[in-house]
Amino acid sequence: MRDELPVLHGVPPIPEGSQPHARCQDECFLGEKPEPLKYREAIQRIKNWFRANSLHVLAYGTGCGSIELRPLGTARFDMERFGISTRPTPRHANVLIISGYLSIKTLKRVIRSYEQMPSPKWVVGLGSCTINGGMYWDSYATMKQLDLYLPVDMYISGCMPRPEALIEGFAALMDKIKKGEANGYLDYLERLDWYRENQKKIIHDWDLPDYSW
Ligand code: SF4
Repeated sequence: MRDELPVLHGVPPIPEGSQPHARCQDECFLGEKPEPLKYREAIQRIKNWFRANSLHVLAYGTGCGSIELRPLGTARFDMERFGISTRPTPRHANVLIISGYLSIKTLKRVIRSYEQMPSPKWVVGLGSCTINGGMYWDSYATMKQLDLYLPVDMYISGCMPRPEALIEGFAALMDKIKKGEANGYLDYLERLDWYRENQKKIIHDWDLPDYSW
C-alpha cells in the first residue's frame, strides 16, 4: 500500500508554510498574491483580444487602392494567418475599408453599409485620398476627408499603399483593439448629429433610412 499522495501532472507541490489567498480561500497557493483585476475589466480584455484576432473585412472597393487589397488574400501575403478574412455583406463584416477616393455618390452607399454592420466595428482609411483628397483634392465629385463622415480608426497613408503597408496597418489596428482604443463606432453613436450634419452637407439627395440605434 502506498503511503504518499499521487503527484498530479502540472500541479506544483504546495510550498511549506504557504497561506491561501483571501479571495480564493483554500483553493490556490500561487506563492505571490496577484494584482486584483476587476472582473469586468478582465472580461473586456479577453473580448478585445478575441475581436482583434477575428477581423471580417467587407469585400468592397471604392477607389484604385482596392487593387492592393487583392494580393492580401493570395498565398504570398496570406492575410488569413492573422485572422483577417473577407465577407460579402455588411451584416457579416466588422471592418470597413475605404480603399482610396470616395465619390459622393458612393459615400451614400458606404454610410448605409456602415450602419448595417454589427458593432463593434472599425473603419480603415486607405491611401492619401481618404486623408486629404489626394490627387482628387479639387474634384467636385469626391469627398476630401473621410473622418468628417465616418469614424476612422486607422489610416494607412500612401498612393497607393503596398500590401506590406496594409498588413502593418492591420497590425496597428489589432493593437488598438486589444488596448480598447479603437472605439470609433461609439464615437459615431455619441456624435451622430454631428456626422449627419456633415454627411447631409455634401449628399443633397438624402433618402437614407433612419436606423434605430
Ligand atoms: S490614394 Fe492614390 S491609389 Fe489610392 S485611390 Fe487615391 S489616387 Fe488612387
